[in-house]
Amino acid sequence: MQRLTKIVATIGPATDTMETLCPLIKAGVNVVRINASHAGLQQISELADLVGSCAKKLGLDTSVMLDLPGPKVRTGEFDRPVYLRPGHHIAMRMGQGRGDETGFFVDFAPLFRELKAGDPVLLADGSVELKVTANHGDHVDTQVVRGGVLRSHKGVNCPTVRLEGSAFTDRDREAARVGVQAGIHLFALSFVSSAADLAKARDFFAHMGVKPFLVSKIERGAAIQNLDEVIEASDGIMVARGDLAVETGLERVGLLQKQVIDAALAAARPVITATQMMESMVDAPRPTRAEVTDVTNAIMDGTSAVMLSEETAVGKFPKEVIGFMDRICREVESSRWFKPRVEPLKKTCSPHRTIVSLAATAVVEQPVTAVVAPTASGHTARLLSAFHLPVPVIAPVTNSDVASELNLCFGVHAVVLDHGLTTDSLMSAFIQQTDVIPRGIVVVSATSPMGPDQPEFSLRLYEKS
Ligand code: PGA
Ligand code: MN
Repeated sequence: MQRLTKIVATIGPATDTMETLCPLIKAGVNVVRINASHAGLQQISELADLVGSCAKKLGLDTSVMLDLPGPKVRTGEFDRPVYLRPGHHIAMRMGQGRGDETGFFVDFAPLFRELKAGDPVLLADGSVELKVTANHGDHVDTQVVRGGVLRSHKGVNCPTVRLEGSAFTDRDREAARVGVQAGIHLFALSFVSSAADLAKARDFFAHMGVKPFLVSKIERGAAIQNLDEVIEASDGIMVARGDLAVETGLERVGLLQKQVIDAALAAARPVITATQMMESMVDAPRPTRAEVTDVTNAIMDGTSAVMLSEETAVGKFPKEVIGFMDRICREVESSRWFKPRVEPLKKTCSPHRTIVSLAATAVVEQPVTAVVAPTASGHTARLLSAFHLPVPVIAPVTNSDVASELNLCFGVHAVVLDHGLTTDSLMSAFIQQTDVIPRGIVVVSATSPMGPDQPEFSLRLYEKS
């Protein structure tokens, strides 16, 4: 039986050759993530080509997702580590330069416009906390609340600063242009706050003549506040637990994961759970109990995909990480605890919602082995995916971009055809001849006419011998 939960793996120095990437993909990666925060512009197309070569060699349809850094703010350089004690005063200066005990540089002007006395500034993944005491325009004075050590290029998070409309930066545009030229169709946007961020990005891509699949990374409090509009404006969602925990409070991250997954599935958007899923495996050949349990719970929460970052980008055991992920997913999916989601979709998804709910009911009530969902846009397959059915959803499509999008959807297996299944005999031939469709009762759930004489919505059962 195929694995239903999808695996996204970040490519990096540990996996950026044919020799290291092919075994990784073979171990079960559905989507390779290129992180534009680390990959240079030239590297983006090289890495995309590399994924293409490996996938071709293995005969797999692996997708590529380019993750754009957005307004990820980092400190400038320090000549040596600076130790900050609570109560210590330190300035945050606008621009580039070297930092020391008296101050450090941050090259992101919007922060200096917005910060005010009392606002928190979190450094190095939240390990150091400062409080702004005064804003002088080109620098802010701060006092250390939680001490720690500061080094070059550490993350700077300012949760109270409004960044609406700035999640698609000039740097993102450059990387996105290279990505489009390299044939990439999936893009992730960092630090999205509102639907306006998505609109900006869509505008840019439209000018390039493409309509990519946009995954919004939920990692700011504003994105949680505007969750429904952000989801509506996005094609996919990522619970970006790294920055989300820094921006909204570490203790809330588990609950926010549940909230975001529920909301994403209700709108039939695939949702990726990301960051520190198997972090200990950067250095160790086996995950911790807590990590295995985290992956288990993310699947029970309804995640469509699980993601690996450092584990596969720079870790010592990238192939083993995928092996563990794969086995945990299969274990959960075949357990008695794994149940289809009951009415996951919002009412507004109807009338398509009605036909896919009936298909889901058929899967629960009959010994069905697969659902076949012929789809032009991928919509029907995405709706079915939200139910987390225990059997695969096979999606015959004619567009390879749609197939690459469906690689993020729980349980969906796209099959690219050069013709539509416009007649009943084409459909039954497809079912009988397609290897990934198991023998047994197969439900066909169609939400657009399969041919001129077919109804708009139909639900049929076939027997595959
Ligand atoms: P990042 O995004 O790894 O690009 O920061 C994921 C996260 O913040 O969790
Ligand atoms: Mn992030």
